[in-house]
Amino acid sequence: MTRRVPLRPDLQLLEGYHSPQVDVEVRLNTNESPLAPPAAWLAELRQELGRIDFNRYPDRSAFALRAALGELHQVEPERIFCANGSNEVLQCLLLAYGGPPRTAALFEPPYSLHRHLAMLTGTAVVSASRTASFELDLPAVDALVHAHQPVITFLCSPNNPTGLAEAPATVAHVLTQAPGLVVVDEAYGEFAPSSALSAGSLPEDAAARLVVVRTFSKTWSMAACRLGYLVADPEVVEACQSTALPYHLDAVTQAAGRLALRHVDAMHERVSLLTGERGRLAAALADLPVETWPSQANFVLLRPLAVDAHQVWERLLAQSVLVRDCSTWRGLQGCLRVTVGTPEENDRFVAALRRSLQEAP
Ligand code: PMP
Repeated sequence: MTRRVPLRPDLQLLEGYHSPQVDVEVRLNTNESPLAPPAAWLAELRQELGRIDFNRYPDRSAFALRAALGELHQVEPERIFCANGSNEVLQCLLLAYGGPPRTAALFEPPYSLHRHLAMLTGTAVVSASRTASFELDLPAVDALVHAHQPVITFLCSPNNPTGLAEAPATVAHVLTQAPGLVVVDEAYGEFAPSSALSAGSLPEDAAARLVVVRTFSKTWSMAACRLGYLVADPEVVEACQSTALPYHLDAVTQAAGRLALRHVDAMHERVSLLTGERGRLAAALADLPVETWPSQANFVLLRPLAVDAHQVWERLLAQSVLVRDCSTWRGLQGCLRVTVGTPEENDRFVAALRRSLQEAP
C-alpha cells in the first residue's frame, strides 16, 4: 500500500505485538484468566451502573479506586496511579521519564511491550541477555546499567514469557546498581511466591526509585475492563498523572476495579486453582518430548524437541487450540507459550500437543 503521508520513520521499525485473535475452542495465547469473575461482583457492578452520572466526566484522579488499592497494599492513595491496563501505566511512565536522548534497560527475553513502548516514546533501548536458564545475569545487569545509566530499568516478575520470578533481594540489588527508576512489572505477581512490594526495608533513595506495576487483567479475571496500576513514590504518581490524557480512566472501569477489591478472597481462590493446574500441566509436559522451564506465572514456556515449533503451533490450531508462537522471538528460538486454562482446556491442550508432537512432518 502506498501511503499519502509517510509514517514516522522509526515507527516502521517496530514489530507488531499482537497475537492473532482467531476463533478457537481453546484459547491459551494471551495469559488471561480462563475463569469468570465472581457473580457477586457482577451484580454489584450492575447496581453501580445505575448510580453513575453518565453525562459527567469521571473523577479525573480516580481517588476512590486509588484509596481502595492503597488499602489493599497498605500505602497512601498518593502512591497509586491507575490507567487503562498496565500497558498504559508503562506508557505513561515512559512518556514522563523517557524520550530522546534517554535510555531504558531491559533483559532478554523481555516482555515485548517494554521495548515496543520505549521505542514508541523515542526512548533508546539497551539490553543484556539472561543466563541460559533465563535467570538475571547480575554481573551483566550491573555492567549494562553502569555503562548506559538508564532512566528506567525494566524487570518483569514473573517474567513474560519465561515465567521466572525475581527474588526481592535481586530487585534490591538492581536498585543499588541502576541509577534511575527500577520498574518491576508484576502483571502476574499474585501467582508468584513473593513481590517487590515486600522487598523489605530499602534505603530511602532506593525506595523512591522502585515502581511496581500490576494489572486486573490476569489474577482478577478482568481483562475486558482494561485496568492496571502502579505503586510508587508520590512524585512518580504525579509525573504519570501529568502524561495521562484528561479523564483517561472511565467511570465504569473505576467502579469495576473498586468493587473487585471487595472480592480478594475469590481472587485468591482463582489463583490457587490456576497454580494447581499449572503444576498438573507441568507434570504432563514432563512426559512429552519438550523442554520446559519452571513457571511462577499462569503460563508455561515450552520448546518441542523433535518437531519444528511453528509446525506444532499450526497443528494445535488445526485442533482448535491456540497458543502463543514465540519461536521467532529473540532468545526464544523454537519456543511456544501456553496459558494455564481450566482443567478441561489443559487436558485438551495436552492431548492435542501429544498428537502434534507425534505426527510425521
Ligand atoms: N505486563 C506484562 C508482563 C504482561 O504480560 C501484560 C499482558 N500481556 C501486560 C503488562 C499488560 O497487561 P494489561 O495492559 O492488560 O494490564
